[in-house]
Amino acid sequence: MAISKIQMTKERITADNKRILNNGRMVDCNQLVPIKYQWAWNYYLDGCANHWMPTEVPMQRDIEQWKNPDAFTVDERHLIKRVLGFFATAESLVGNNLVLAVYRCIDNPECRQYLLRQSFEEAIHIHAFQYIVQSLSLDEGEMFNMYREVEAIYNKDEYAMSCTNSVLDPSLDTNTKEGLQTLLKNMVGLYVITEGIFFYGGFVTMLSFGRQNRLPGTCEQIQYILRDESIHMNFGIELINAIRDENPGAWDKDFEQEIIKFIINAVELECAYCKECLPQGVLGLNTNLLREYVQYLADRRFERLRLPKQYGSNNPFPWMSEVIDLKKEKNFFETRVTEYQTGGALEW
Ligand code: FE
Ligand code: MN
Repeated sequence: MAISKIQMTKERITADNKRILNNGRMVDCNQLVPIKYQWAWNYYLDGCANHWMPTEVPMQRDIEQWKNPDAFTVDERHLIKRVLGFFATAESLVGNNLVLAVYRCIDNPECRQYLLRQSFEEAIHIHAFQYIVQSLSLDEGEMFNMYREVEAIYNKDEYAMSCTNSVLDPSLDTNTKEGLQTLLKNMVGLYVITEGIFFYGGFVTMLSFGRQNRLPGTCEQIQYILRDESIHMNFGIELINAIRDENPGAWDKDFEQEIIKFIINAVELECAYCKECLPQGVLGLNTNLLREYVQYLADRRFERLRLPKQYGSNNPFPWMSEVIDLKKEKNFFETRVTEYQTGGALEW
């Protein structure tokens, strides 16, 4: 397999020579320009325009609220800890998959430019949860071990990672149909399932606190993460579809069925996780509404993957689309200006 080696040739490379997976043809993973995949470069620019750092977000009000025994019910505290506990390690799983498995296989320079940007964003997200856990003085051992100790979290992580090992295998050959399917399935596990479904139970429940001005610093960070993640997922789906278009044999009917099942099972795991986080309803949320939302999201993902919708559910939380879609001058919860269009916006 050629993807682990950089082959130098003396022939000139043009944009037309470029492929998403060069697959040992005329391998060049260093020439960003001339650009063939403008969309990948645009995602990179979008990611840079959204730059933020966790430690810029004040946590004082969160600390005061969290210390106040009357500010949260027992169920609310359970929910918040389960959500933070899931994210605390999930961001690391994503980062590792990205750097060790996906980056190795995707050797087009425009796509790699975005993958490098995304990798740094995952580092920022990991940092964010470390910063939140530390600010609120949560038990670090408890939070960072939840993916081992809480079954519903373990099941999600285990599921998303189940197809990563075969991509890490040095004998993986993306010149074969089987090898390509292995890579594509892992990419669906990362971009569609983890970032596009498994993160959303946590997003919608935490942002429900933010809408009531509770844990405003935590929720502001989660809002930035959500904004980043929606770009990650959109890039990932575009990348999956581009690989598919360049390798028409790989995505056959059997594989399509396998991917549909893969996503349907993920929806069930996310619903089980929501049930574990939220055994009783809080904040107008309950497991039925969350199921409807997760199914609604899955249908959107199916459409983007050019697959038939499976559920026909409606969006019970239309306000979430506003949080995701709007390039607001202020953040959704009106705490501070949040657009980082230039590095000059930072104060030193
Ligand atoms: Fe992330
Ligand atoms: Mn991500």
